[in-house]
Amino acid sequence: MTRIQLHSLSKCFDKTIPALQDVSLAVDAGELMVIVGPSGSGKTTLLRIIAGLEAPDTGSLHFDEQDMTAVEPRQRNVAMVFQEGNLYPHLSVRDNMAFPLKARRMSVAEIDKAVHNAAQLLHIEDLLDRRPYTLSAGQRGRVALGRAMVREPAVFLLDEPLANLDVELRHRMRSEIRSLQHSLGATMIYVTHDQNEAMSLADRICVLRDGVVQQIGSPLEIYQRPANRFVGGFFGNPSMNFIDGQIKEEAAACLFVSSPGTIRFPVAFAKTVKKYNDCEVVLGIRPEDVTIITESSQQNVIPVKIQSLEMLGREVVVTAESMAGKPLVCLASPDTPLTINQSVQLQIDPSKIHLFEAGQEGRCLTV
Ligand code: ADP
Ligand code: MG
Repeated sequence: MTRIQLHSLSKCFDKTIPALQDVSLAVDAGELMVIVGPSGSGKTTLLRIIAGLEAPDTGSLHFDEQDMTAVEPRQRNVAMVFQEGNLYPHLSVRDNMAFPLKARRMSVAEIDKAVHNAAQLLHIEDLLDRRPYTLSAGQRGRVALGRAMVREPAVFLLDEPLANLDVELRHRMRSEIRSLQHSLGATMIYVTHDQNEAMSLADRICVLRDGVVQQIGSPLEIYQRPANRFVGGFFGNPSMNFIDGQIKEEAAACLFVSSPGTIRFPVAFAKTVKKYNDCEVVLGIRPEDVTIITESSQQNVIPVKIQSLEMLGREVVVTAESMAGKPLVCLASPDTPLTINQSVQLQIDPSKIHLFEAGQEGRCLTV
């Protein structure tokens, strides 16, 4: 098992916009690290640098103690699986999978064994004699994975391998990849733009945006303690609500004051927040931490008018407009009697508040 260490990697294709800026990341031996970020955030570039297909402008790459920064791709013992799979169309599944081993001049018996073992793990034994074009996208994805597996690489690099698949297959492949990675005990870096995929697969997640690492942490850490407003908004569906306002220290209390409403911070929280007295901040609250109440005069409520109700079966997604005119989203039980244009109050659980610096890029003030 191999530990991967990236230190301060930067890459700029043209002189203006860097694809990667000062990226440092350590992936433990046997860990499944998911790199997630919007399109163009530098995910593929990062994988290509680890694979040796691209050279960084600055920074270094280590596998365990060995400096790999300038090592030839072929000497890195890395297998990269691309979104498209990149299978050879004129070769059978068996020959596609055997290809990297033939290049190593392994014996026919050894190759046969390796291919069969991988095919068994991936449930594609009955496809071995077929050509790629006769396979479904999901089957092709598994063959591409199998071709990577037979090489027994030190490191697996997967670049959005499930992006072309339909939802059901994606779910199945996700858990297959997860259990495969476990049983191989391999170090894996998995790239996706899909926050759900990141959450469900990862041991840890690295969030990239515009070539800059935003946060590295376990899925739960990232969800519960987002380092900035971008990370807070990127994970979770429906997305986190953001309200612009001000911190006000008043008598013994510490308040968040905004045009939609006023929230009183819990004591534990108030201590951290007090130092931002009079500062402009952004309050973040997830839809599941907001409760709809119909009786009045409660604390920590925002009066709203219901705009839309989206029934999802297990829950209803409620969009409501505050006095300030900004829509806020929360979740309600399908049994709650609610109608469009109804005036209700949104109660915010103050222990679930995230507080960010003002602006779109705000750093979290409360972690
Ligand atoms: P992602 O995989 O997250 O979508 P990429 O790593 O492909 O992002 O791209 C990051 C940035 O680098 C983008 O702005 C992209 O246009 C640019 N880029 C990537 N590869 C090249 C290249 N070969 N030449 C010029 N620009 C590139
Ligand atoms: Mg990409």
